[in-house]
Amino acid sequence: MAFSGLDIYKLLPKTNCRKCGFPTCLAFAMQLAKKAVSVEKCPEITAAAKAALEASAQPPIKLITVGEGEQKLEIGNENVLFRHEEKFFHPAGVGIIINDAASDEEIKNRVEHVNKLSFERIGQQISVNLIAVRQAGSDKARFEAVVKKVAELTKLGIVLISADAASLKAAAAHIAKRKPIIHAANKENYQELAAAAKELSLPLVVKADTLEELSELIPAVNSAGANDLILQTGDKPVNKKIWDLTQIRRMPLKKNNRVFGYPSLTVIKSNDTYEQVIEACDYILKYTGIVLLEGFEAYQILPILTLRQNIYTDPQKPLQVEPKAYPIGQVNENSPVLITTNFSLSYYTVLGEVEASKIPAFLISVDTEGMSVLTAWAAEKFTPDKINESIKKFGIPEKVKHKNIVIPGYVAVMSGDLEEKSGYRIIVGPREAAGIPSFLKNIQKAG
Ligand code: SF4
Repeated sequence: MAFSGLDIYKLLPKTNCRKCGFPTCLAFAMQLAKKAVSVEKCPEITAAAKAALEASAQPPIKLITVGEGEQKLEIGNENVLFRHEEKFFHPAGVGIIINDAASDEEIKNRVEHVNKLSFERIGQQISVNLIAVRQAGSDKARFEAVVKKVAELTKLGIVLISADAASLKAAAAHIAKRKPIIHAANKENYQELAAAAKELSLPLVVKADTLEELSELIPAVNSAGANDLILQTGDKPVNKKIWDLTQIRRMPLKKNNRVFGYPSLTVIKSNDTYEQVIEACDYILKYTGIVLLEGFEAYQILPILTLRQNIYTDPQKPLQVEPKAYPIGQVNENSPVLITTNFSLSYYTVLGEVEASKIPAFLISVDTEGMSVLTAWAAEKFTPDKINESIKKFGIPEKVKHKNIVIPGYVAVMSGDLEEKSGYRIIVGPREAAGIPSFLKNIQKAG
């Protein structure tokens, strides 16, 4: 938790010696609280006070980096419990577990399939982040070989899962440059794995059955040299797991408990394909940093990634597209012109239906500050004046030779006013986007 100016002042020597360039210690403390100066400017501060100030400047939940390059995943460093208080910054990683007992062919096919689990939704690419290789038995050579093969086949981040510390250390050393996660240190093996994580600079999962056991194990792992940690509690019913995840998030943020100041990880145990999805979504909501599951079908992964995308948007800034006239398909001067707002969900829903109609059209997204049609209309952001301005600004008079504009059915009430202001004939479109394909076909037939 960041210190206030007065908290900082209490830690300073209070001699007002001016060596920092400020007239008083209080003035220096106030600037330090605003992060306008560095603590180094005070030569008189004690080592203990300096350490306390530096610790308070650290984020309450440590940022942990997994993987490398474009596929790098960052988790942690969150500031709030509830999304509406600010926003969540680092989307939870989603990873697929692959067992080293599977055949080479099966492993290759699965990795290639996972590599393709990437979808475009409302203008953003949403993808799986990690592949977790789990050692099924105790064959160290097999685990190493599979880890090496998976690393060759994917650019995604890698999680190494094994109960055998020697296997984990050997596999981690092979692919250390890829910055994999070592899973997992427990009270029996933590010294060995913490030393390996420190030596290779890798993140380490620390696992204990309960929060109490975890609170004892984390400082021990820190003392053994590992500080990039990810926390996991034992297998338990969903409600109890959510409780654990909530406490791991809550303690550093609300109780200033730095021991738990790391992101968390969950592994889905259910064999039911639908339960896996529900559990993964539950844990992303509250508050896992990484979720690993065996299910890898697109119908399982898409809802998980969609939920994650929604949770990690800024609730105060709706997702928006750039306001402009978008040509959809091979447009020409006879193509219809449709109007919508620049709220991403509205735009992409209409876009999908226009594409489905196979009739090339211009789609104008009016700048409504990211509001949907009815909300923007009620807030007077989607008005005849604004639509008329967009028609002109985006060059519709130069792009088409006809004088017809299609507006959403929900704002039929503005037809007369818009017709008068724009000089275009206003055609009222369907209320729901699903009606667009048949609507466009009908107006095309009507000429
Ligand atoms: S140098 Fe340190 S002790 Fe001296 S005035 Fe500045 S803050 Fe106070």
